[in-house]
Amino acid sequence: MNLHEYQGKEILKEYGVPTQEGYVAETLEEAINAYGKLQQMRDADVVVVKAQIHAGGRGKGGGVKLAKNLTEVQTNAKKILGMMLKTPQTPGGLEGPGKKVNKILIAEDSFKPTFDSCKEYYVSILMDRERKQNVIIYSTEGGMDIEEVAEKTPEKVHKEYVDPTLGLQGFQMRKIAFNLGLSGVAFKNMTKFIAKLYKAFVGSDSSLIEINPCLHSGNDEIIAVDCKFTLDDNALFRHPDYAAYRDTSEEDPTEVEAKAFGLNYVNLDGNVGCMVNGAGLAMATMDIIKLSGGEPANFLDVGGTADAARVEQAFRIILKDPAVKAILINIFGGIVRCDRVAQGVVDAYKNIGNIKVPIIVRLQGTNADIAKELIDKSGLEVHSAVLLQEAADLVKKVLKK
Ligand code: GDP
Ligand code: MN
Repeated sequence: MNLHEYQGKEILKEYGVPTQEGYVAETLEEAINAYGKLQQMRDADVVVVKAQIHAGGRGKGGGVKLAKNLTEVQTNAKKILGMMLKTPQTPGGLEGPGKKVNKILIAEDSFKPTFDSCKEYYVSILMDRERKQNVIIYSTEGGMDIEEVAEKTPEKVHKEYVDPTLGLQGFQMRKIAFNLGLSGVAFKNMTKFIAKLYKAFVGSDSSLIEINPCLHSGNDEIIAVDCKFTLDDNALFRHPDYAAYRDTSEEDPTEVEAKAFGLNYVNLDGNVGCMVNGAGLAMATMDIIKLSGGEPANFLDVGGTADAARVEQAFRIILKDPAVKAILINIFGGIVRCDRVAQGVVDAYKNIGNIKVPIIVRLQGTNADIAKELIDKSGLEVHSAVLLQEAADLVKKVLKK
């Protein structure tokens, strides 16, 4: 689950990671109040107004603006609230429709005492699945062009792996501060920053925390100015308070709908929709689609207890994607009886009506023979296959048409 910057910063604060003071606002009035509070609390006249959307690159799209006084706060808040913000990371990129901004963060300007004396670093923590270790990735070249740095000068991006049995060691924090070229107070503050950030990563069960920029202020403080935070969905039950951070308006509407039906659905870019029972079989199915020249349009696990009603819902969800040119249904009947699924397919076909894309069904296991007969006799444009290879060949054939 992805968090908004302001939510991530709340978690960082819990763990004592230095970050700038700020308030979230959904209306102009709230933005004005937030500014008032910051002026009182922190004697902060200069603030930054930041669009809160689940996408990075907001600075490049005009979603991050400095404001030196109340008038500028109002102007920028009006401009950013409700805007369709386009960044390189919003759907379709800068050419796409952008994402609607429902919330802004008003935060004190941390680039003190002068902007010129500040330096922006990059720090992130995530899990390296191949190494089965957490890794801290960091660079002196933080800021808005980190992607370019990683591409053109990868030697400037460092990695520090953490042994899970030992945890993050003191020498590793010092190595990071050293490689970032720090000394004196800033060096010490960076080691503390890394220690706390790592605690936040482990403690919140997150799968990614990215701080970019991680600011070395003119006062030698180390501050998280931005944060991208992803929590591990499978551990959310341990953090009921974080679960409330979910913002479904930021998620793919079809995925939200699928979740409500108990379907495990992920929207992808391809042209072949798939409906499968079991995550492993779903992945094998996606592989076979690729091998036969198609691209999977989605991942969809209908679960081990698929009945006719569920199959119909799954159908409706797959068909919402206009890119779908064919649907491959691959069910292994263990607990699920194939004839029930087949009946679901036939019913769905009739109930939804006007299905133009060809459907390939491969049912194996309990009652597969009855299922095949049901489909073959239905008179619908449904191709049935027994072997996975046959299914793949059929996909190839219908895509060629
Ligand atoms: P992103 O573009 O979505 O990654 O948003 P960031 O929060 O990283 O902001 C983009 C850029 O705006 C940063 O790299 C900074 O250069 C600048 N910026 C962000 N916050 C502040 C701030 O408090 N003061 C100043 N002066 N600049 C800021
Ligand atoms: Mn950033």
